[in-house]
Amino acid sequence: MCGIVAYMGSRQAAPLLLNGLRRLEYRGYDSAGMAVLNGGIDIRKDRGRIDDVNREHDFSSLKGTLGIAHTRWATHGEPSMKNAHPHTGCNGDIALVHNGIIENYKTLRELLESEGHVFSTDTDTEVLTHLIEKFYKGDFLGSVRKALMQIRGTYGIAVIHKGCNEVVVARNGSPLVIGVKRGEAFAASDASAILEHTKKMIYLDDGEVATLKPGGVVTVRNLFDKILEKNIEEIGWNLDQIEKGGFRHFMLKEIFEQPESIRNVMRGRLGKGIKLSINGELGDRKRVIIVACGSSWHSALIGRYLIESLSGVPAEVDYASEFRYREPLVGKDDLVIAISQSGETADTLAALKEAKRRGAKTLGVVNVVGSTIAREADMGVYIHAGPEIGVASTKAYTNQIIALLLIALDLAQKHGKKINQRLLSDMRKLPATLEHVLKEDKKIKAIADRVAEHGNFLYLGRGINYPTALEGALKLKEISYIHAEGYPAAEMKHGPIALIDENMPVVFIANKGKGYDKIVSNMEEVKARRGKIIAIATEGDNSIKSLSDWVIRVPRTADELSPVVNIIPLQLLAYYIADIKGLDVDKPRNLAKSVTVE
Ligand code: GLU
Repeated sequence: MCGIVAYMGSRQAAPLLLNGLRRLEYRGYDSAGMAVLNGGIDIRKDRGRIDDVNREHDFSSLKGTLGIAHTRWATHGEPSMKNAHPHTGCNGDIALVHNGIIENYKTLRELLESEGHVFSTDTDTEVLTHLIEKFYKGDFLGSVRKALMQIRGTYGIAVIHKGCNEVVVARNGSPLVIGVKRGEAFAASDASAILEHTKKMIYLDDGEVATLKPGGVVTVRNLFDKILEKNIEEIGWNLDQIEKGGFRHFMLKEIFEQPESIRNVMRGRLGKGIKLSINGELGDRKRVIIVACGSSWHSALIGRYLIESLSGVPAEVDYASEFRYREPLVGKDDLVIAISQSGETADTLAALKEAKRRGAKTLGVVNVVGSTIAREADMGVYIHAGPEIGVASTKAYTNQIIALLLIALDLAQKHGKKINQRLLSDMRKLPATLEHVLKEDKKIKAIADRVAEHGNFLYLGRGINYPTALEGALKLKEISYIHAEGYPAAEMKHGPIALIDENMPVVFIANKGKGYDKIVSNMEEVKARRGKIIAIATEGDNSIKSLSDWVIRVPRTADELSPVVNIIPLQLLAYYIADIKGLDVDKPRNLAKSVTVE
């Protein structure tokens, strides 16, 4: 999920690789490492910032003109020196860096161990080095191809062998670009790392593998060894554009990454039923209590609906900051779930510790592998959203919801409930559904243009989409500094209705499904008071049009998934309003990404 750089040429590799890694820093990472060919292979790596690792291990002491380097954002195994890449096999002949997730690593690792391979890290990646080692009989490229055919999942890799003067790179699902220049060749996970050396790039596609050989000779093949003709493209973007993948802001990029991040949270966990490996048993808990703050608290509210309705286990939600100070009545019959993107949120961590002190079993739902909450909790489910750089959470939020859905389904299985196969099938389709929703982008921007000058917004939803209203309002507050309130739609008549006039845009989450008729009545009430209505509605629902000033259409999906589908237009709406106002979307004032204070 983070960064790879590789070099093959006549200059010293280490300084070039180090510069490349620095250019990839923006992607977020927890460890850095480098390997250079030098008769044998020399490796330096550790957890921490690139410059700190360099200070400690002096990358420039690696001498040689061929090398690979990596910034890691851990997905399997906590950030540590041993888990940092490059990885080697048993005999140290190979060094490999990898971005992505290998889904079937457990089975492969067991198999390789039974054949005598000895593993030295906790990563999913290491199976690749042992597989290559196993298949290597003098044909390095062939052994890499064979190894790649064994794995399921995503990868961008760069790998070297001590007996071969070449770098092999490959991609499936994780980006990889090759930079070509007379006498030299580069590879990286994005062009920013190598742009200072060349603007001529070959973009690898999924299922392709390439060799970088002396003299800058680059050959691209598919996994079946067929040589492919690839275009060399002259890159026109500047560094800033590359880092943001062509998007104006990281937040927008991250909104658009959601189809992929949702794939990653489900990866390997969704079969006929649910396969969650959580290092422990959810067991027979009588009650679930979810503690969280901010957007995570909203995903917790959705989690409550999911857990109660699917598994029948009673669930409660509390603000972590309130829970920890209110002498909570929890104990050994309870499962306490702590949700935090960073895994370092101070209030959530304290609530988790309080729950543990009182004898509850704890489970962390966290993005950052090896973070404090991940380590402190008895069990954990990583959400695999990848690094989130925009301060306002987008892809981590939707991945939390899916992680909670997986937990709810896992609990349901354990309680002998039948799993609804239609829901599973809609889950599998969810990435495609989100891609479809993202196509509404231009239309949402046009709506933002029309409403950006308003000073107050109201967001209304019911049932499982009441938290969507809260999250939609929070996004707008966070990045556009517009006052916004989220409410359960039925509560409107108990107060907020007094606010409604022609200056109050009201966003309704009004999908077909549970509670639809009731929402429509609420819309009538707003319309009667001349409020401006923006409706999120199901495709094909034409009756909603007459009630609304603007309609954003989303495809129909299972009710359980609708919060993920519905929040995307609301993220985009908040984003465009903030951008129109010329605000610093990625770093809104007064906010921090990881709230490590009470
Ligand atoms: N899954 C690998 C690991 O946890 C690679 C992570 C990355 O993409 O940086 O080591």
